[in-house]
Amino acid sequence: MGSFSKISCVPSVGIMGIRSVSWRTSTTVCPIAVLDSMVPQDKAKVPAGEVLQAYRTMLSYLVDNRRWLFPSDPKSFCVVHGRQCSLCPAAAATSSSAKRQRTTAEIRQMSRSDDSADCPAPLRINTAGTTCVGWSSAGKSLQFRDPSERPHAIWSVERLRRGELQVEDVFVSECTPRYPVKEKLVDLLAETHDVFHIVVSPIDLGWPVRRRRVFCCGLSRATMAWLGPEQDDILQHFLGFFARTLQTDGDVFLVASDDRVFDEHCLLAGHRGLSLSSSAREGNVLVSPEHVYAPGQVVRLQQYSRMRDEVAPSGAFFADLNQNCGAGASTPGPVIPSMLTSCTLHSFSKRRVALTEELLHAHGFNMYAEEMTPGTGPTWPPCRIREHLLQLNRAQRQKLLGNGWHLPVFASWFYYILAHTVKLDRQVTVHPERSLWRKGSSSVLSWGRASSSLSLGSCEDECTELKEGQLGG
Ligand SMILES: [Zn+2]
Repeated sequence: MGSFSKISCVPSVGIMGIRSVSWRTSTTVCPIAVLDSMVPQDKAKVPAGEVLQAYRTMLSYLVDNRRWLFPSDPKSFCVVHGRQCSLCPAAAATSSSAKRQRTTAEIRQMSRSDDSADCPAPLRINTAGTTCVGWSSAGKSLQFRDPSERPHAIWSVERLRRGELQVEDVFVSECTPRYPVKEKLVDLLAETHDVFHIVVSPIDLGWPVRRRRVFCCGLSRATMAWLGPEQDDILQHFLGFFARTLQTDGDVFLVASDDRVFDEHCLLAGHRGLSLSSSAREGNVLVSPEHVYAPGQVVRLQQYSRMRDEVAPSGAFFADLNQNCGAGASTPGPVIPSMLTSCTLHSFSKRRVALTEELLHAHGFNMYAEEMTPGTGPTWPPCRIREHLLQLNRAQRQKLLGNGWHLPVFASWFYYILAHTVKLDRQVTVHPERSLWRKGSSSVLSWGRASSSLSLGSCEDECTELKEGQLGG
């Protein structure tokens, strides 16, 4: 993977949101205007079927015109350099539309100077959490009629085109579990990609955090080969490596100092036009909920409190005071509830609000490196973007939490994908798949037999088929 410094120069790639696309501008047709014209203007008055059809037409338009809509070397304005920068510098080097063919040695040199890594062929990965607005249980759930269909269509057709151009090897994405992977990705990319997905929660991996998500990956068949099991067996196979039993509750993340908690309570009280007495800080006095929370939140706190008395009168208990008790997207309980972009999480055992930096910590961004390493134990480095996260205000961090992913789960999925794929080098071998099976099949098969609980049956069948058939010829 590229270095972080490289990522920071790329202007429109967001780790937590969908990336924008730089359009080819040398044409007289403005594609943005075309897409604008396709969207029904007054959706409230337009029948649902027409809105649905409009977004289908938009997707068809993008697919049909992808050859000129998506250039091989897209550029976008870069806030770091103040000019148009290439979105995919390494891919630009291999672009078939380059004015002259670069030699393999030149391309390798470019990728080295870009990544400072001794890697013969860079792996080109697109990573983004796709927009989940149309599918989230917390929203209107307009699904195929949601305005987010438009950025999703652009993003997915861009994957299709970049796979065809052989300038992108893998994409990895995550979304809400209601996101229909087959309709959204598998069908669209049937000709170009192998698409896999699993639905998994941090709880499955031993983290006391709710965030069940679908994790997808698409491998471009032109440049990548999959060595893992078939789709139906992937989740079990993945959990064979990463599953852990839950051993603790969400209170484990509440590690902020009393001073910091008091500051947060002052901030929330300030939003309501109140100021807390500084004598309360010195006396370590518990702050009244009426001072910190809005009236509606106080009512919900009382409702959740009664619920807690019934189900778990002692120990950790969390509830989002922005969500009605027992309704909607509310997931109260001893683990951290699923984060929304607008969320006020209250800890009943600590009788205080959960801080956004604590919630980021719960989502795998190590915000408390110093506090978490008592004594002489091993130290874990702080999150590399911690200082940037701390510069954001509460609402901004909350938005990132609601839209973001659980980092350890995503990282596990990413690692799993990379550990079960091979990049094909078609410049060296005419049919790399054949040599791959010939060289790799024995070790893959023996490993499959050694761990019989992990299904690799379909892979074995395919290897046997290849050995008996094509390899002999
Ligand atoms: Zn730049």
